[in-house]
Parts: sequence; C-alpha cells; structure tokens
Amino acid sequence: MKKAQEHGSKIKVKSTLVELDGDEMTRVMWKMVKEKLLFPYLDMNLDYYDLGLQKRDETDDKITVDAANAIKKHGVGVKCATITPNKDRMKEYHLKKEWPSPNGTIRAILDGTVFRSPILAKNIPPSVRNWVKPIHIGRHAYGDVYKNQEIRVPGPGKGELTFTPADGSQPIKLTIHDFKAPGILQGIHNKDNSINSFAKACFTYALDQHVPLWFATKDTISKTYDARFRQIFQEEFEKNWKQKYEDAGIEYFYTLIDDAVARIMKSEGGILWACKNYDGDVLSDMLGSAYGSLAMMTSVLVSPDGYFEYEAAHGTVQKHYYKYLKGEKTSSNPMALIFAWTGALKKRGELDNTPDVVKFAHTLEQASLETIENGIMTGDLLRVAAPSKKNKQVYTEEFIDAIAEHLKKKIG
Ligand code: NAP
Ligand code: MG
Repeated sequence: MKKAQEHGSKIKVKSTLVELDGDEMTRVMWKMVKEKLLFPYLDMNLDYYDLGLQKRDETDDKITVDAANAIKKHGVGVKCATITPNKDRMKEYHLKKEWPSPNGTIRAILDGTVFRSPILAKNIPPSVRNWVKPIHIGRHAYGDVYKNQEIRVPGPGKGELTFTPADGSQPIKLTIHDFKAPGILQGIHNKDNSINSFAKACFTYALDQHVPLWFATKDTISKTYDARFRQIFQEEFEKNWKQKYEDAGIEYFYTLIDDAVARIMKSEGGILWACKNYDGDVLSDMLGSAYGSLAMMTSVLVSPDGYFEYEAAHGTVQKHYYKYLKGEKTSSNPMALIFAWTGALKKRGELDNTPDVVKFAHTLEQASLETIENGIMTGDLLRVAAPSKKNKQVYTEEFIDAIAEHLKKKIG
C-alpha cells in the first residue's frame, strides 16, 4: 500500500466487483463513501447496477435479475439499501407495479443464507457487558411459520395432519387435536435440501470467520421436525467439515435453544449462532439493539456455491432522506455501508490473492472505528455512547470527512 502511495498510484483491485446502487439516504451516503473513502485510493473495475426504484421500474425489474447474475459471474457484490415498494411507494414513484423485494429476488437466484454481524466500537458498550466480541447470526430463510397454513377452529371437530403421497400409496394421517370447543390450528413445513443448504452455508461462514458454530433447536419436544434439523446439521458436519474444523481449531456445538439463549447471555461473543427462521428473526433484532444501533449491523448473503453479497442490515433511512430533500442536514450513520464495502473488498482481495486490497479495507475499518472512538459520531451513537467530554455529534458528511481525514493520516 505504501509503495502504491509513494508512486502516486492507486491500489489495484484485480477482479471485477459488482456494485448495486440503491435508494434514498443510503444512496446519498453511498456516493459520499465512494468518492471520499474509496476512489482516492483504489483502482477498481466496478460492474455497476442501479437498483434505485426508478431504474427498477424502467427496466421492469430486469436490472435486479441482471445484478444477481453478475454476482454469479464475478463472485462478489456490494449492495446499497433499496426500497421494497408498497402502495404508498407506488404513488410516490409513479410505479408500473409493486415490484418485489430486490433482496428476495437476489436471494432466490443465489440461493443463500444471510449472516448478520455487529460492528463494535470501544466506546459504544453493548447492553450485555460481557459481549466483547461480535455474535454473528445466521438465519434460515425458508419455511416454518413464514410459509404456514392456519385455521381458526369454529367449534367441536377433529384437527388432522395428512400427507398424501404422489405415488398413490396410503396417506399418512395423524390427529392433532379433538376439539370440544373453538380454537386454532397451524401447519408448517420445511425441506431437507433447504435445511442442508443452510447448514452448508453456516459451516462455510464459521470457518471463513474462524469462529465456532452453535446450532440449537427444541428437538426434545419436536422429536421429528426439529430433530430433522439437528440430524441434517450433524450429518453435514461429519461428512464435510469435521476434519476442517479440527484443523482450524474451532468446534461445532449443538444444544437446546433455551440452553443456547442462557449460554449466549454469559458468553463473550465471537461465535456464529445458526438459527431456525423464527429464532433468527427475533434474536437478530435483540442482538442489533443490544449492540447499540441498527446502523452498526452488517449483513452478508453467502451462497452455497461460494458467491458473496455484502450490505448494511438497515433500510434506506427514509425519514432522514425527507429532511435531506428539504435541505436540512441529517446525522445519518454510514458505518454499515462502509463495512459492506470493506467486507466485499476483503473477500475480493482474499479470492484474488491481493493482500494490499485486504490491508486497505482493514485500514479503512480502523479509521472509521477510531473516528468514533475519538468521540466524533452520529446522533444514533451519541445516544448510547459511553459518556465523555470528547463526544460530539456531527452531520453525515462531516462524519465521512472526519473518517477521510483520519484515513489519509493512517495511510500517508
Ligand atoms: P430503516 O431505513 O432501517 O430505518 C429505520 C430507523 O432506524 C430510521 O428512521 C432511523 O431512526 C434508524 N436508522 C436506520 N439506519 C440508520 C442509519 N444509517 N443512521 C441513523 N439512523 C438509522 O427502516 P425503514 O424506515 O422501516 O425503511 C425504509 C425503507 O427501507 C423501506 O422502503 C424499506 O423497504 C427499505 N428497507 C430496505 C432494506 C434493504 O435494502 N436491505 C432493509 C430494510 C428496509 P430515527 O428516525 O429514529 O433516526
Ligand atoms: Mg425481526
């Protein structure tokens, strides 16, 4: 890196990186991050896709599909937050239709699992004192209660669970409950191949991050359904990961979900916690808030075929954007967007075997964290920061400028 600077040249990112632009306040910050923190130092070949809502509407959402295929082609993508339109957005942007969630479309094409990790700064203490290392969460994103069928039982009658084989053989039928009075019924499902691809993604990501993998279900109560999750994880571990985990000195640990929750509260972090769909939904929000701010949570989609897409876990920060449009200054936090870029650059550098790219990404992360640790921060962080006379709330652009200045010093 030093050499590149001395020669007045930039660090070369060898392979193409796929860039997915987005909407509202995150689009505004995205541009600043590129211009002030990345372009001065990096020579990148970016395959750019504008996933801003207007462009998605213009292209009948083809651009989202093209972007996902570009990630398949090049291996690594970095994505800004995007609007998932609803009725209000349709009116606001004069849309042809309510286009689906870009993240949903991309996930369906790459078949991935989403992992979330908090960014830790020394002066932003987690609500749980002993969580000194990040707890990463991997959430299974298929089935269970999110693809259920439910019945409001009006009165006495028999609730049954039936499976009718496609080959015409005898149906399997179980009585769920003999109702004597009104009540409720629910049917859920999952698929072996989806659970297996979730397991593969978790084993891959934990090894990649060099942290132990925890998985938990309630298989003492759910002796067929949850037990199948446990069994698939165990089989996958024995078949493809046992030796690699031994070599790396990390473990795969299975326990009951209530035991896992109790242990997490006492742990120091530094683990990947694989969660079933509902557990991941609830627990990732708990972790996000316990670690300080939504704007300090990063997210990466890891496909079983080895494609990676990095983004911030938060949305487009709509309310801040409306203020920005009125010409008011906002104190929006770009940290998770910056870390989406550094995550993608580190992965690109690792795959390309270009350590100076990895080193630059690491330096940018340090410069960003040290800026906060020096007391310069956005409003969301000031509310939860350890009290200090140094602490000062700054506007979005001032914060990015402060990071840029610190980065320049660190590199120069
Ligand atoms: P949001 O953008 O995550 O913002 C919710 C609130 O969290 C904000 O109003 C703000 O609180 C705080 N916040 C989030 N990010 C922040 C940041 N970087 N800096 C400072 N504060 C931050 O969620 P939303 O307002 O519910 O959704 C807005 C749009 O984002 C929606 O159209 C939705 O479809 C989209 N969305 C996209 C993604 C994605 O692309 N991955 C994910 C979620 C939502 P205060 O207002 O209190 O300051
Ligand atoms: Mg949730």
